[in-house]
Amino acid sequence: MSGSSSLLRDLLNISARTVKLDERLDDPKILSNLLGESRRLGLSEEFCRRLLGLLIEEKEKVKGVVEGEDGLRLRRFAARAMELRKAGRRIVRLELGEPDFSASEKIVEAACEAIREGRTKYSSAAGLRELKEELASNLSSKYGVDLKAENIAITAGGTLATYAAIEVLSRPGDSIMVIEPAWPLYAHQIKRLGRRVVRVRTRVEDGWDPVEAVREKVSRLVKIIILNYPNNPTGKVLDRKSFKALLDLAEDYDLWVVSDEVYIDFSYNGEAPSILEYNYPKMYYLNSFSKTWGMTGFRVGFVAADPEIAKRVSGVLSTVMTCVPEFIQRAALAALRDEESKKRNVELIGRRLKVLYEELSRSKLIELIPPEGAMYVFPKIKAEGFSSWNFAEKLLEKEGIAVAPGKCFGEPYDDHLRISAVVDEAELRDAARRIVKAVEERIWRKDDA
Ligand code: PMP
Repeated sequence: MSGSSSLLRDLLNISARTVKLDERLDDPKILSNLLGESRRLGLSEEFCRRLLGLLIEEKEKVKGVVEGEDGLRLRRFAARAMELRKAGRRIVRLELGEPDFSASEKIVEAACEAIREGRTKYSSAAGLRELKEELASNLSSKYGVDLKAENIAITAGGTLATYAAIEVLSRPGDSIMVIEPAWPLYAHQIKRLGRRVVRVRTRVEDGWDPVEAVREKVSRLVKIIILNYPNNPTGKVLDRKSFKALLDLAEDYDLWVVSDEVYIDFSYNGEAPSILEYNYPKMYYLNSFSKTWGMTGFRVGFVAADPEIAKRVSGVLSTVMTCVPEFIQRAALAALRDEESKKRNVELIGRRLKVLYEELSRSKLIELIPPEGAMYVFPKIKAEGFSSWNFAEKLLEKEGIAVAPGKCFGEPYDDHLRISAVVDEAELRDAARRIVKAVEERIWRKDDA
């Protein structure tokens, strides 16, 4: 049989198996057979990897695996909390990743002034030179690197920065590794762009350390790994040893590393490591103004990467939304110069995380790590019959407290909850006590009838 028909035969065999068999298509043997064939035929390895990725994805569809619905359900749940509040009930909202503080007066004034000055026209997708220079110089001095404006791309928040990462660094069929529990949008974006999600599970029992889990799951099929430390939802901050171990693994497999550092300022045991410290060759750093400065509605963030990659990120921005409005970028520039409000916001969240930990760790039914960073705690509830959606819905209706069900951050986390530190300390303490009480009373067992 000629090489091409034999390759075709292999591919057809694999396709047939996707429908019929429950065989693991991500078994390294299948990949290495395929790669062997492809080399003989002079086909690119890249192509074969993507093809196999697409087949695995198809198999999931045939098997009827539907994932990621919980992220969307959380939006509806948040809308329900809002509705109850509008109807006059006192609702404590701890379900979203949105700080309660707003942009400082200086930031708001910079935006207003820019509007008054008429900076309201289309601007360059590449972003404001002044803002990029300041970001490059801040990052360079903080991490001892040599970044220039050309290394920076301005994006519409971290959300567009992750979307652009997927689009620019991979192609349809490629596999992208996500460490769970994870911000649900990674998986949504990966799927929307026709890539495949490879999920790695971490556990509170291991202190959420991902290194061994990644080592077990990584393969030559994977193109990108997304890191997010300090982490949403666990609050985990990687130590330098684990960070380095992950990067070594990534380098062994020639992966792009997308490091989502939108919570990097919220680090409570000394400075959290950043990918920028490691001189990693295939690095994509992203950050946002949303959390640190309470600017979620401004929609502005940035990427630091090789100039060619930064240019392509701006290309994605240009295609989907032309540019980030100049007056927003002027506000971002004012934020960079407003160290005071950054410090205040970070300290505020830190105090609240302590309160949450103090109250929740009183219960034997609750397991959580002491908060290290970000704006959340992600306790595990160790009680029979607990289901995160059932509990969250009952807690909202009965107690008027909204929290995010753990299942939103990955299928295996139905015994967890994410609680955001986004209301003032007294209210948070009271809410945490009532959550503990609801857990101990096992409210999920009670019927409304
Ligand atoms: N990354 C993570 C981990 C997040 O939690 C969020 C927001 N919740 C973002 C990125 C994006 O935020 P934004 O688009 O507002 O910058």
